[in-house]
Amino acid sequence: MCGIIADYTSLKIGGRAEIFILDSEDKISSAFAEKCVVLGKGTNVLVSDKGIAERVVINRLRGIFFDKNFVTVASGESLPNLCRECAKRSLSGLEWACGIPGSVGGAVIMNAGAFGGQTADAIEEVKVLTPDGDEVILRQSECGFSYRSSQINGFVISAKLKLTFSDEQCVLEKMRETAKARSRTQPTGKSAGCTFKNQGLGAGYYIERAGLKGARCGGARISEKHANFIINDSGASASDVLALIEKTERDVYARFGIKLQREIKLLGEF
Ligand SMILES: Cc1cc2nc3c(=O)[nH]c(=O)nc-3n(C[C@H](O)[C@H](O)[C@H](O)COP(=O)(O)OP(=O)(O)OC[C@H]3O[C@@H](n4cnc5c(N)ncnc54)[C@H](O)[C@@H]3O)c2cc1C
Repeated sequence: MCGIIADYTSLKIGGRAEIFILDSEDKISSAFAEKCVVLGKGTNVLVSDKGIAERVVINRLRGIFFDKNFVTVASGESLPNLCRECAKRSLSGLEWACGIPGSVGGAVIMNAGAFGGQTADAIEEVKVLTPDGDEVILRQSECGFSYRSSQINGFVISAKLKLTFSDEQCVLEKMRETAKARSRTQPTGKSAGCTFKNQGLGAGYYIERAGLKGARCGGARISEKHANFIINDSGASASDVLALIEKTERDVYARFGIKLQREIKLLGEF
């Protein structure tokens, strides 16, 4: 079916594409029968106003299976849901992730992290559909994890995580602390999370010191609360957001000689 990608991203930006909703493992081979782009929850992407020429596979694979302190989770599950289910079973190790709105697959590929935790630390193995159409199991050491990235080539189908038994109230308390810290430091509104990877004193520090808090390109604005967030607050286009990203890169480089590294992924033609 043809659809508007904006409906599938947290920035609420993006033009048209052919969309395939992948809601069952049985449909994997037909989903990937042609060249395509994968979207989980679309919380770390900026999609072109012109849309995406390839088919977009929207990952809605669900399922969480517990075996003692191991959990095998389908890649389309949301991190907040996974965290809640782990807390119910007194399993600790993912409390840092409870407020990240992405999917498990996106978190694995991006090695999402926060408050000193990262996805890689909990990974035992990852099931991947390779570009050749083979299903392989990668052990943690074969995933090439580094700060906010991995070397996984293909579609993440599921992940097996190793957690530790704790006390339900302790897990819930840590999750509450994380949620409080998040709402104290991060803005609400339509965003794709942090625009740039942290380096040195933190990307937000340099952006703020370059005087860019509140800077605007069209409908896109740099958050006053956290300078590493770009907010779509008045019908921003992808070009508005990209123009603001490029201005930020130029101004931070001019002021500090630092080349910011983009964390958000650009999809489609710009
Ligand atoms: C309010 C807010 C707060 C955030 N806070 C954090 C934070 O604290 N820490 C953090 O690390 N991130 C944070 N993020 C960013 C984002 O939520 C994470 O990076 C998340 O893990 C991305 O998951 P996703 O499903 O949304 O990925 P998407 O945005 O859908 O995709 C991101 C990339 O991963 C690829 N991808 C997605 N799923 C798969 C799959 N199954 N197999 C292969 N490739 C795949 C996509 O093709 C794309 O290149 C935040 C975002 C928002 C909006």
